[in-house]
Amino acid sequence: MPRRTKILATLGPATDDPAVLDQILEAGVDVVRLNFSHGDAEDHIKRAENVRNRAAAHGRQVGVLADLQGPKIRIQRFVDGGVDLIEGAAFVLDSALDVNAGTEECVGVTYATLVNDVKRGDTLLLDDGRLTLWVDSVEGTQIRTKVVIGGKLTNSKGINLQGGGLSAAALTDKDRKDVITAAKIKADYLAVSFPRTAQDIHEARALLRAAGGHGAIVAKIERAEALNCIDEIIEASDSVMIARGDLGVEIGDAELPGVQKDLIARARSANRTVITATQMMESMIDSAMPTRAEVFDVANAVMDGTDAVMLSAETATGKNPGAVIAAVNRVCLGAETQRSAMRSTHRIDSRFEQVDESIAMAAMYIANHSGIKAIAALTESGSTALWMSRISSGIPIYALSPHINTRRLMTLYRGVYPTSFDMSAGESHGMNREAVDELVRRGAVRNGDLVLITKGDRMGLMGGTNAMTIVRVGEEELK
Ligand code: PEP
Repeated sequence: MPRRTKILATLGPATDDPAVLDQILEAGVDVVRLNFSHGDAEDHIKRAENVRNRAAAHGRQVGVLADLQGPKIRIQRFVDGGVDLIEGAAFVLDSALDVNAGTEECVGVTYATLVNDVKRGDTLLLDDGRLTLWVDSVEGTQIRTKVVIGGKLTNSKGINLQGGGLSAAALTDKDRKDVITAAKIKADYLAVSFPRTAQDIHEARALLRAAGGHGAIVAKIERAEALNCIDEIIEASDSVMIARGDLGVEIGDAELPGVQKDLIARARSANRTVITATQMMESMIDSAMPTRAEVFDVANAVMDGTDAVMLSAETATGKNPGAVIAAVNRVCLGAETQRSAMRSTHRIDSRFEQVDESIAMAAMYIANHSGIKAIAALTESGSTALWMSRISSGIPIYALSPHINTRRLMTLYRGVYPTSFDMSAGESHGMNREAVDELVRRGAVRNGDLVLITKGDRMGLMGGTNAMTIVRVGEEELK
């Protein structure tokens, strides 16, 4: 059985080597992330082009996700590249300090209005929470703090406010320029960093459309206040990323597992896809094998129902990106054999709004409760495949579409295998025959197997799925 959970890998210097790019494709990467926090427009354009060319050479479909940097607040640089902060020492964050003038006493900050967002008694977390500062006072451009947890602090590390509440807008001027690059790349997904409200998502979508981009919008959940209006944010987005790095710093690591499970369930029940991100295989940046804890982390996300597992530095700068993908592949496959990953009562009592949605739901009910070997969903927009994939199942969903953008969009959908399909061949030889032949060619089914096919009587019409047929492979009357 092919893997259902999708693997999203960040591209970076480590995957710029063509041999490594081939390795991650061979190992099964489904979607690549271009991280706009690093590199310039040219780097991203080149990486997207290379990965699509190599994917085509491998006969693979790979989606591209452009991840905006967002208002990540950072310290500036130190005279000597870094300092050791000692517990109990005074340390000042000063937006007026020269950008390269940091010392053991003070350092610059990228966000001048940080002084308006913090007050005495607040806790600031540096470098993903590795160092902690207690705010003593705020004076002019200076935030005067006391080091609570010290350690090595190097240039440009991130700053978070424990509990959230930083006022920075989600879309920065840099993000607005990067949206234009994402449109140029024809990114399949645009990820919005640090959204606070649904309005941030609507704005990003409007900017992308204005730039001519077609991509779906991913809301990265990484601010404490996003959790206060999470259903509105999910509703405004096509997909949700549980950005555990920044989110864990803001809400505390102990809250994260519960929030992860809740976000996965909420996204799925709202018919949205969901990505679980950050430190999933962190030790494999250097190591040849994952820790047991990492194996359990990936497996738990799969059992919770995530669509995709995301890798960051593990593939962007790690020692062996191909080995990381191979390890995630293995762990996902193992987790997917668990009963909880294959059974569903999702929407069993719901009333469906549309005909195509009803067909998708009925198809999954039949497939999960009978001897269907595979589903062939003939789809224009990918909606039928998305609805189907919200139901946990062990039955593969082959989403047959003539549209490249639809196929690339579906690379993120759990249990969905985007498949190129020429509808005109179906018109002359019979759509069912063509669909079944495609599945046979892929080794998905063989003579005697039952295939469930969904399609529209009027192909070419978005949202037109209104028919479901069950056929047995090899039967003469197959039309
Ligand atoms: C995160 O914070 O977990 C995350 C995915 O964001 P980024 O990698 O862009 O910092």
